[in-house]
Amino acid sequence: MKEIKMVDLFSHYLDIKDEISVAFHDIFDHSTFVKGPQVDQFSKDLKNYLNVAHVIPCANGTDALQIALMALELKPGNEVITTPFTFVSTVEVIALLGLKPVFVDIDAETFNLSADQIESKITPRTKAIIPVHLFGQSAAVDPIMQLADEHQLFVVEDNAQAMGAEYISRDGLSSKTGTLGHIGTTSFFPSKNLACFGDGGALFTDNDELAGRMNKICNHGSSEKYHHELVGVNSRLDSLQAAVLIANLKRLDHYNQKRLEAANYYDELLNEVEGVRTPRRSNRSTHIFHQYTLRIKNKRESVTSKFKASDIPYGIYYPIPLHLQKAYVGYGYKRGDFPNAERISEEVISLPIHPYLTRDQQEFIVDQLIKAIAGN
Ligand SMILES: *Cc1c(COP(=O)(O)O)cnc(C)c1O
Repeated sequence: MKEIKMVDLFSHYLDIKDEISVAFHDIFDHSTFVKGPQVDQFSKDLKNYLNVAHVIPCANGTDALQIALMALELKPGNEVITTPFTFVSTVEVIALLGLKPVFVDIDAETFNLSADQIESKITPRTKAIIPVHLFGQSAAVDPIMQLADEHQLFVVEDNAQAMGAEYISRDGLSSKTGTLGHIGTTSFFPSKNLACFGDGGALFTDNDELAGRMNKICNHGSSEKYHHELVGVNSRLDSLQAAVLIANLKRLDHYNQKRLEAANYYDELLNEVEGVRTPRRSNRSTHIFHQYTLRIKNKRESVTSKFKASDIPYGIYYPIPLHLQKAYVGYGYKRGDFPNAERISEEVISLPIHPYLTRDQQEFIVDQLIKAIAGN
């Protein structure tokens, strides 16, 4: 059996090697490392794929979140509602901009922001909500957008883990996640479903005014060289990364389908296993399985020891909810504030999932997991 990888970047490289080699040589030959035609081409391709009016590429997914919040022109002390069960970027950029993160607990089934707990956290200082489409599945966008309308809030969707997922809204229409709120953001970090070979990110919006501001903010607050209208940052996607992304976007649906097939097979293998909860799927969203995340009560430690001994990689996303992280204790949260996030962070384990995972690898992984749970 081939070595099991959490994500198989090398096999993926071989898939696109010929195509990107041609593009790379073209970039080297023209020395168009920054602002090459590949960056515009990729933005156009992604616009078509998402069916959105504007795509603004930037340097990484954390920058994308920061630029989105900067474009909303929030004032220090304004409150931003988000989830405590996600990667740190969201709360980090809120804190960096002098805003106040207000956490809302997650739904125990989907791990996403619990929409029915948001309203009680809205105050006159609340200006935005950042739902994260965690592990590849959409958060409950309709109720979030309704609250946003009623209270005049902005919604910034963190779509770093859900590129290609679709949300089915109340009217039965389906749209790509990241295009439903006022702004969507993503990361092209190599482990994401739509990835490059380094760092990259993007923002999407249908709003011309926000798009104009975000374009400027990425470029030192400027649209004309040496004229700075806004305080900005330097955040670019480079041409080499854009060339990789052009190749990967063409294959994104195929790769997401392969992940879904692997997830279905895991579901089948784990169906009858006592004490293991397979990922719940929302009936309002497709799932692109950025992660295949189980909940294992009490026995998680036995499983991780067994996996270590058997050279099976795994992930614990996320071991400590953000409200309990040392850097953010200043906001006054304590253990017990978000019981779902706290309990789930002690139970989750993500199994290897990627387009090259084989059935015999999956059978071996599940076999070892069952042995660990049975105590042998
Ligand atoms: C990866 C990720 C980010 C950050 O992206 P970077 O490109 O690493 O800065 C933000 N939010 C979520 C949910 C992520 O998974």
